[in-house]
Amino acid sequence: QLPKGGNLDWKKAPCRFCGVGCGVMVGVENGKAVAVKGDPKSPVNKGLCCVKGYHSVMAMYGKDRLTKPLVKKNGKYVETSMKEALDLIASKMKETIKDYGKDAVSIYGSGQWTIPDGYVASKLFKGCIGTNNVEANARLCMASAVTGFLTSFGIDEPMGCYEDIDHADVFVLWGNNMAEMHPVLFSRLLDQRLKRGVKIIDFATRTTRTSMAADKSILFLPQTDLAVANAICYEIINNGWVNTSFVEKHCNFNKGLTNMGYGLEDKYKFKDKPEKISFKEYKKFLEDYTPEKVEKISGVSAKDIKYMAAYYGDPNKKVMSLWCMGPNQHSRGTWMNNLIYNIHLLTGKISTPGNSPFSLTGQPSACGTVREVGTLTHKLPHGVVMNKKHREFAAKIWDVPVENIAPKPTYHTVEMFRALDRGDIRFMWIQVTNPMVTMPKLKRYRDGAEKEGRFIVVSDIYPTPTTDIADVILPSAMWVEREGMYGNSERRTQYFEQMVQPPGEAMSDTWQLVEVAKRLGYEKQFYYKEDSHIEEIYAEYRKHHDNKKHNMAPLEVLKENPGMQWPYVEGKPTKWRFNSKYDPACSNGEDFHFYGKPDGKAVIWQRPYEPAAEEPDAEYPYWLNTGRVVEHWHTGSMTRRIPVLHRAMPHSYVELNPDDAKRMQIKTGDMVKLTTRRGQIKLPASVNERGVPAPMQVFVPFFDENMLINEITLDSFCPISKEPDYKKCAVNVEKA
Ligand code: SF4
Repeated sequence: QLPKGGNLDWKKAPCRFCGVGCGVMVGVENGKAVAVKGDPKSPVNKGLCCVKGYHSVMAMYGKDRLTKPLVKKNGKYVETSMKEALDLIASKMKETIKDYGKDAVSIYGSGQWTIPDGYVASKLFKGCIGTNNVEANARLCMASAVTGFLTSFGIDEPMGCYEDIDHADVFVLWGNNMAEMHPVLFSRLLDQRLKRGVKIIDFATRTTRTSMAADKSILFLPQTDLAVANAICYEIINNGWVNTSFVEKHCNFNKGLTNMGYGLEDKYKFKDKPEKISFKEYKKFLEDYTPEKVEKISGVSAKDIKYMAAYYGDPNKKVMSLWCMGPNQHSRGTWMNNLIYNIHLLTGKISTPGNSPFSLTGQPSACGTVREVGTLTHKLPHGVVMNKKHREFAAKIWDVPVENIAPKPTYHTVEMFRALDRGDIRFMWIQVTNPMVTMPKLKRYRDGAEKEGRFIVVSDIYPTPTTDIADVILPSAMWVEREGMYGNSERRTQYFEQMVQPPGEAMSDTWQLVEVAKRLGYEKQFYYKEDSHIEEIYAEYRKHHDNKKHNMAPLEVLKENPGMQWPYVEGKPTKWRFNSKYDPACSNGEDFHFYGKPDGKAVIWQRPYEPAAEEPDAEYPYWLNTGRVVEHWHTGSMTRRIPVLHRAMPHSYVELNPDDAKRMQIKTGDMVKLTTRRGQIKLPASVNERGVPAPMQVFVPFFDENMLINEITLDSFCPISKEPDYKKCAVNVEKA
């Protein structure tokens, strides 16, 4: 029997899942969220939804939802009251700080934290306790995008917006399976092809549903995107396609490494600083990257390199570059981001409608909660911990002595788990993320977390491999079971109200943190009233961004609109930053102003090709690449509880090239053994069903907690962003 429809109470929210940030309408009936549809008024998705969005409310009602706090006693979890669980957490934190110092406690959150969650976490740990041990899983997915922006422009987040899609003539997708990862946004590209005949070029190491829909699919060998991007710059210069007046007025040329003031120079031996070079020197450097030379490294024909370069170089074509995990999860992720900006800066195709280098995010609030709130070790909501003025500014708003805020970053994510392993960190609170599925070289970090003398708190909505390592598990309220905001990939802050009650004793992560803060003695700083705490927290958060470059829209505006882009100045959102026609923060009296840099100029970087951290060899002859699938959200902890999505994609698999599979006599469904220097796993094969990787390469999705691909991935990371390279390591492939 079909359920009744038609009488639902529909309320608006941003989608719970990916970074596209579609506006949805949630249908509520008898206190339960029972339906989802796209919000036709949302400028993001214009009424569309993808398969995950439509089924998102079902993620709240899985049978094994956590509803009571659990405490581990003699190896078993026993139910306890919320009060006792919070008392225990606060007393363990006090004890750890007393015995081992404040840098022995830490919090690890997520781009799925709401803005208030991340804000109170940062205020409690950085402002009150006085440790910079605050990190979020976004380090694993978009830290390279951040350092790319900072090195090229001195300020984070895309200059353009989704409206660029309506103006661009050509879309170049750099290692970006948009059809599966950002499906609604990809459908906007396809719409434009129907309406205006735009071109879609997919540049990747495997064919996917994206390349199948693209006008042209170009495959490259892993890591060689560095060389191809340089070859495109070579072509632009040698064909006279440089926008000389733009480059002369608005760009500098730099070489050298930089760790962008993370304050870790000694630790990571990044002693060389950026150094200005001339255009002539840059041109000379590019001579190593002629299309013919790069063809030999990359497997991309010189003809295809010239084909891509010609679109970027054509003054009559507006080009949008889109990327996400391919260039970010890269042992030279920062460089890859710089290189894509180089192409746009050389041609002046930037910050005007349709000319847009656009780095997408994966999570609903990776931008909002991690990059804007600043839940990374070196960040403050406005600025960085290393800057005295930024510390003073934050301390004043947080009502804490400035000496409380430590002037040095501590650990980025991989280092934070290494510190837990070593015992330098003794207490870790993990909220709304699942590191025991997502950490690379997983065994090392799981063993470290399970050592004697570590105390782990996990706040989540379902049992996961991460709750398995917890000493205390707190049940969390999910999405519209509480009030909050997310910030999507185009700088759009979106509000949602509480629509239904969370189950049992589940409470929001914000509430849990505020309650522990009060128990630690910070009642003055955590003065928020329970019935209006989101309002008070957001109003306080906005004070950190009270300037023309960052200002966020007030809550009453967010409540009335399907989100609002920052900078929100004089009652208006800013769609294109750094362009004086659109951005009120431009103050140099010229057409463009890259005000994140002291001299207002963006940087074109000299970034060489460098081989990957681990390359295939005789023993491990294949590349291993990992990623997501359209049916599942990240580690699958929510979407695997949605029956229709679980049935559509019940388990992980290894995707093999048909030629490789034939050589090894492997067919779809056969079990395959993958072996790396870290270990072994077995998975069923998928030959040519969902795509074809380049020769000698296999792909495995990471959503399946029963087939943990991260047991065997490598934990090397970009030395600037510290983001791990999940896309490349060496693996041996055999029929099991
Ligand atoms: Fe949600 Fe992303 Fe799908 Fe939009 S594209 S409905 S934000 S999962």
